[in-house]
Amino acid sequence: MSTWKDNLRTIDPYVPGEQPDLPDMIKLNTNENPYPPSPDVRKVLDAYPEAELRLYPDPNSTKLVQAIATYNKVNDNQVFVGVGSDDVLAIAFMTFFNSKKPILFPDITYSFYDVWAELFQIPYEQIPLDENFEMICSDYYKENGGVVIANPNAPTGICQGVEALEDVILHNQDVVVIIDEAYVDFSNMSARTLIDKYDNVLIVQTYSKSRSLAGMRIGHAMGNPELIAAMNDVRFSYNSYPMTRLSVEIGAAAIEDTQYFEQMRQKVIATREWTKKELTRLGFSFGDSMTNFIFATHERVPAQVIFDKLREKHIFVRHFSSPRIENYLRISIGTDEEMKTFIEETEKIISEYQ
Ligand SMILES: *Cc1c(COP(=O)(O)O)cnc(C)c1O
Repeated sequence: MSTWKDNLRTIDPYVPGEQPDLPDMIKLNTNENPYPPSPDVRKVLDAYPEAELRLYPDPNSTKLVQAIATYNKVNDNQVFVGVGSDDVLAIAFMTFFNSKKPILFPDITYSFYDVWAELFQIPYEQIPLDENFEMICSDYYKENGGVVIANPNAPTGICQGVEALEDVILHNQDVVVIIDEAYVDFSNMSARTLIDKYDNVLIVQTYSKSRSLAGMRIGHAMGNPELIAAMNDVRFSYNSYPMTRLSVEIGAAAIEDTQYFEQMRQKVIATREWTKKELTRLGFSFGDSMTNFIFATHERVPAQVIFDKLREKHIFVRHFSSPRIENYLRISIGTDEEMKTFIEETEKIISEYQ
């Protein structure tokens, strides 16, 4: 009898938000940007010499690394690029978390962290956020194998000040502290400069949200050159050519168009602030989101009911059934028009609910 099943690596995978494809849908469930990427991306696509696709890409993605380094005012050897920040984070977990002690991250946060910990067999401990979903810094003053903090946090939208992060870093000088800044461009509160002060801090960012390139898969990390070199050694040990030729060209073009980026970012922030006012009017409460989504709970109508009824109308939001957050909805910020429709439909659902 075959026994290969005894040696399978079995794991419950991370489940991303659904990607329905309906012509009339309003998709507010995966924190994508409602606006297209920079028009310079179109120029790259139109001009791209397809014959070059027969050649392997530059293994070091030099052009993209340089563009990110210039934009962030760091050196090239302080930048690591990957296939979305999920790839960057997975490699960081594999590279830095090899202690027998548990790594620490909040109980309510990006639900991929515990999946990677399981996959790479890293012990972990989930530290409860307080009742307002704020981080309690002193809970991280204990022996551990590393720390991961999403800031602003997902799915709560809440942003801790740089002082709080620095406090946690100061108490964790012997391990790597990863700050996942997937939503930082909607907050203006980057901890980027902490990498100049602390050699154990890794800042991870993505092109998927603020730069409207979720479909291209580009993410990056910044940290001291030794951290970056260690991550590259791990990465080149299983994939020599992670970034495609097109993602390098498109990523470089997108990050260089700072003016368009500023405009789109401000637009999303303005729509978010309008949506907050409307949600308050409808009886929702939520923390002060610094992201491109709002994590809200209604005073009377259960989240599951609102989720199901919106879904029937082809309006997709995200609902997590985990403890502490099962009565919340995570609503990504769409265009003004999409949010207007979302508010109107939600208002109907609430008024019809007995
Ligand atoms: C969206 C997200 C990511 C992953 O983004 P990529 O598309 O893989 O770059 C990472 N962390 C958090 C907290 C996110 O919300």
